Amino acid sequence: SYDEFYVKSVIRTLPDWPEPGVMFRDITPIFKEPKALRMVADAFIQRYMDADVSHIACIDARGFLIASIMAYQMQKPLVLVRKKGKLPGETIHEEYKLEYGTSAVEMQKDAVAAGDRVLVFDDLIATGGTILAACTLIKKLGAEVVECAALIDLPDLNGSMRIQDAGFPVYTMLAYE
Ligand code: IMP
Repeated sequence: SYDEFYVKSVIRTLPDWPEPGVMFRDITPIFKEPKALRMVADAFIQRYMDADVSHIACIDARGFLIASIMAYQMQKPLVLVRKKGKLPGETIHEEYKLEYGTSAVEMQKDAVAAGDRVLVFDDLIATGGTILAACTLIKKLGAEVVECAALIDLPDLNGSMRIQDAGFPVYTMLAYE
């Protein structure tokens, strides 16, 4: 069963990466530890298995890794929210502010549609900008966001609060000060 202390012990913290002053929470060791990966994926699957969700939208790139396990087990369609310029065909994109400059996420226009009930998944919520942009795209395509889920929340950056204030429920498994 899910053991928060164990999962936290597997996640690695890298100070001053990618720039000075940032404490980067590195979840890649979870993927090297089959027991940890199974524990995390199973906990999310358990939460959403019986939820009224029609699609899982996962965010480039670490969000893909856990969400694809969920989609397989839950037998739900998986749609990708990618950094701009990666997806073929007709797309829409949404820009959002970073500390310096902007970034943009993109979805294929036929990824979701009116009537779809979408779970948004990423590995981590920092400022919330990425997930909020994903939610904006999903709404623009006519679908509903049921919940935004992430493995890690950094509550000091207020991202999960921003997402909730915009009207999208948020669930995170672990928080780091
Ligand atoms: P936000 O848009 O500021 O909420 O940043 C969240 C996005 O940046 C997610 O896609 C994360 O993968 C990535 N990110 C930001 N900070 C970290 C971190 O400390 N560890 C891992 N990913 C991070």
